[in-house]
Amino acid sequence: MNLDVAAFPHAPDEELAPLLEDLLVRPDFQEVYQAADAVRRQTVGDTVHIRALLEFSNYCRRRCRYCGLNAAHKQTRYRMTAEEILASAQEASAAGYRTLVMQSGEDPGFPLKLLGEVIREIKSRTGMAVTVSCGEMAEEDYAYLRRCGADRYLLKHETADPALYDQLHPCGTLGNRVGCLRTLKRLGFETGGGFMVGLPGQTPAVIARDLLLLRSIPCDMAGIGPFIAHPATDLRGCPNGSTELTKRAVSLARLLLPGANLPATTALGVLDGEEKSDVFSCGANVVMKKITPDPYKQLYEIYPSSMGKTDVAGERRQLEQQIRALGRIPR
Ligand code: SAH
Repeated sequence: MNLDVAAFPHAPDEELAPLLEDLLVRPDFQEVYQAADAVRRQTVGDTVHIRALLEFSNYCRRRCRYCGLNAAHKQTRYRMTAEEILASAQEASAAGYRTLVMQSGEDPGFPLKLLGEVIREIKSRTGMAVTVSCGEMAEEDYAYLRRCGADRYLLKHETADPALYDQLHPCGTLGNRVGCLRTLKRLGFETGGGFMVGLPGQTPAVIARDLLLLRSIPCDMAGIGPFIAHPATDLRGCPNGSTELTKRAVSLARLLLPGANLPATTALGVLDGEEKSDVFSCGANVVMKKITPDPYKQLYEIYPSSMGKTDVAGERRQLEQQIRALGRIPR
């Protein structure tokens, strides 16, 4: 195989789609991993950014069929207060974090105005960059958050196949989701898309479309993670996404979006602790660490995972060591 890496960012979709599809399933992927690692080194370097993930509310009005926070589920719901959020942000900053990712379900009970004020306060007290990941909103709401100082917005498109999207999302359309991504980009957010690998009914051709959709925005960051079946959802019993296929998708995303921030997603670590270090060698340059305080952390169960007690500073130190051991630079 002779991979024309330079062509990936610009080649027309019609040319790339069959190539991506073929690469995703070929027996030997080593050459692509190596190419992605080389592109990563040239563009974003050896730094691995560690982001603090604060899950500040698990209320959600949506009913995404794969997600543990589905509004139809009877479960204990929580919403952190502004004071609690600020305290967590300050703890993260003191531990060395430079970015706070604020994630929640789509929670109309958390007033937008308050969210904006909290963001302003975090920025002025800590100087951290703030990424928001709170789902779909109206353009004026995104614009307000941007004015309050939000730097980035993470809104995974989940799947680029409209029929599969409709099957999985009884309350939303792919068109709306992608429309939100374009709006965020236009408003000057560093814009993050992404998708799940191994959704029931997903084919390699769909993953190829997912990758091309990221390029079409174009996304500044992309979260690509395996689907993990949640026992409380309709999709219980479905097989989990493959970590190998997920890593392949991350590598191809690196070739399509050479300068993007690509997390080794939390879900990948959940499936296999070993895989996570590996994913840093196939194009990823970011990792997120939950700093959500106990007992809220245990209640934010998008997919099942074993969670220890939160130790913001200690867990960060440990992760820094693991990153250094891989010859990379934690930041
Ligand atoms: N409400 C926000 C945050 C969603 S949760 C939003 O709408 O963007 C964050 C991400 O978790 C989702 O975008 C989805 O890709 C992922 N996720 C949800 N359920 C999952 C599952 N069962 N397996 C793997 N990832 C899942």
